[in-house]
Amino acid sequence: MPLAANESTKPNDLESFWMPFTSNRDFKQNPRLFVEAEGMHYITADGRRVLDGTSGLWCSNAGHRRKPIVDAIKKQAEVLDFAPAFQMGHPLSFEFASRLTQMIEGFDHVFFTNSGSESVDTALKIALAYQRARGQGTRTRLIGRERGYHGVGFGGISVGGIVGNRKQFGTLLNGVDHMRHTHDMEHNAYTKGEPDWGAHLADDLERIVALHDASTIAAVIVEPVAGSTGVLIPPKGYLQRLRDICDKHGILLIFDEVITGFGRLGTPFGSDYFGVKPDIFTTAKGITNATVPMGAVFCRDGIYDAFMDAPEGAIELFHGYTYSGHPLACAAGLATIDLYRDEGLFERAAELAPYWEDAMHSLKGSNHVIDIRNLGMVGAIELEGIAGKPTARAMDAFKQCYDKGLLVRTTGDIIALSPPLIVEKGQIDFIADTIGDVLRTLH
Ligand code: PMP
Repeated sequence: MPLAANESTKPNDLESFWMPFTSNRDFKQNPRLFVEAEGMHYITADGRRVLDGTSGLWCSNAGHRRKPIVDAIKKQAEVLDFAPAFQMGHPLSFEFASRLTQMIEGFDHVFFTNSGSESVDTALKIALAYQRARGQGTRTRLIGRERGYHGVGFGGISVGGIVGNRKQFGTLLNGVDHMRHTHDMEHNAYTKGEPDWGAHLADDLERIVALHDASTIAAVIVEPVAGSTGVLIPPKGYLQRLRDICDKHGILLIFDEVITGFGRLGTPFGSDYFGVKPDIFTTAKGITNATVPMGAVFCRDGIYDAFMDAPEGAIELFHGYTYSGHPLACAAGLATIDLYRDEGLFERAAELAPYWEDAMHSLKGSNHVIDIRNLGMVGAIELEGIAGKPTARAMDAFKQCYDKGLLVRTTGDIIALSPPLIVEKGQIDFIADTIGDVLRTLH
């Protein structure tokens, strides 16, 4: 039951649910509870409308509570609530997988998961098992990148490059190394879209190859646009250069498209935007418009065949989840990709992107702002941190925006934005104006 506006909560009510990435004790001081959502808005427990500037957590790409998706979930729940996917199945999972593979050339199989983190761990495991299946079993190293976010599984935090997400958990995966990240304020601050400077940063992979030898490296994983660490846009040519180095050394390239998948950049996937194909890519979030948890790992033609055509006969992948290809998620996913297509939301994102870019960059010169970045329908405003109090200033901006009816996301001292692709130009103006107002008075 949602909390009614006038219902008091026992102090402890807001601690039983140990919140992710949140200190409950702080949250309790000023709880922000959503009880309803529709289209571009959340409705709070005290009845206020808050414009969703972040698509929830980069996931509600078509906006909230969209009727075709709601109806599809309801209908499916009344017919088949669950079916195991091990050695049996149900038709929708095959239909959805086949529809997904039709969204992109060259990827003929998908593996279903329930989240971005599971997609990442699945992709890493497929990469390792594929190398072994093709007789390259010495390739066991995985390479990530500083400031990469790949979810919270042990694989994901090992290849991820966020110190805070790793240091509480002791020893992680062995044999992981990290390339340097691509963000450079000196050369690229206030770049609109992709920076010109920095393709050569991909050569950091050559340093790692020289150190460990290519014969020990299975795969490299990067987000085409790093989202959770503050929207880091790859320099022009960087991803292609990474692709070339991987090809040269027989290393698999994995794109983590949990954010960039399903239209965020104005194309179905980030690889379409950049014109660079990985070998494997992860998705989640927008795959069901965030209505039912789901993820999918796409594998390029031939990866699956290495398992099926192994010299000793077809090999199964010893991996999977109780809920891989869950019927409700598949029903939600099919309705979601139909909705994206019927409303032309990816094309809409591409059309809105220049307006979005101008709105973001109109904040240049505002109080405390030291950089603004954007690509497709993603943006970030970086603030100068307060010495000794990292994150405090952006967190203050987040709270003030929320009070003014706008949901933004913060990461470090960065305000990150990714509105649903149904956003209207007037709402983009509201986002920029509200942030501008908040910055004007921010300490
Ligand atoms: N990879 C990337 C690139 C992400 O942005 C995220 C979530 N923000 C994840 C993985 C993890 O997804 P989830 O929270 O669904 O596990």
